[in-house]
Amino acid sequence: MKCPVCEYPNARLRYRMSDRFFGVSTDEFLLYHCSSCGLLFQNEEEIHDRLSEFYPGGYWWQESGRLSSLERAYREWMIRHDHLRFLLSLFPDGRGRLLDIGCGGGTFVKLALHAGFDAYGLEQSEKAARIGERNAPGRIFQGLEQDLIVPGEKFDILTLFHSLEHITNPFRYLKNIQKLLRKPGKLVVQVPNVQSLQAKIFGSRWYGLDCPRHVYNYSTFSLLHLLGRTGYRIQRVRHFSLRDNGAALASSLFPALDPMSRRVELLKKKGKSHSLGLVLKESLYLALFVLAQPFALMEAALGRGATVTVYATLD
Ligand SMILES: [Zn+2]
Repeated sequence: MKCPVCEYPNARLRYRMSDRFFGVSTDEFLLYHCSSCGLLFQNEEEIHDRLSEFYPGGYWWQESGRLSSLERAYREWMIRHDHLRFLLSLFPDGRGRLLDIGCGGGTFVKLALHAGFDAYGLEQSEKAARIGERNAPGRIFQGLEQDLIVPGEKFDILTLFHSLEHITNPFRYLKNIQKLLRKPGKLVVQVPNVQSLQAKIFGSRWYGLDCPRHVYNYSTFSLLHLLGRTGYRIQRVRHFSLRDNGAALASSLFPALDPMSRRVELLKKKGKSHSLGLVLKESLYLALFVLAQPFALMEAALGRGATVTVYATLD
């Protein structure tokens, strides 16, 4: 099969996967590997029409009422020390009209606003956008990129935190969103890194693959290649994410403790979220998350961190 990123013609079948974490489908999914750029991908023609079926309720967002204030504070702290800190290292004056694409419940938009950015979010899911509206009133667009491109909306900075891996035809997509950028444009993309040490160790059991929701699992090289092909100029690459790298390792080791799949399970059962068992699981997970940090730092220092964040510009 032809690699959709680098066009190498002999990408081979690598894994036969199931939906291990959310069980939204009982189907088998095929992941192909490109030995030229490192991309691990699904054949998008096979799943394109079904992608929306693969998202369980509560995926990367949550009704505020169901979150404890402690969990909300923890999430905000993580995003402040991860996404926002990276952004402020690039733009210390906190200026610019920013659009966070795939903004979920809008936590990052809220924090970017507080930091001084003229921040907005774009979210496809109606439910998530409603929650985002509570976090950042008047700042959330519900819909698709095209809904902003058509009326001529322009931004100085676009951010895509864990969005690009879900998107089909990324070449066309990255070209298309250039219409949203006021030049010189700035783009921040963060995705899981399929060539991380932990991805190599866990193989098809690595949490970061999130099959079948991730259509493309990028290596650093494949992401940089894609951005270069679509006209962006790479300015900075980072491999550490406080929020994601240790968490991916902990959830790969003990999938039953993964907070997001437990939350999705609770939503399905409409269960209570503060039982003793849950508190125990949360404490165990937190301990694992802390213990995972030295490994996460080490793999990032080797350029093999579990996420890759790229800052690129468009002239
Ligand atoms: Zn390739």
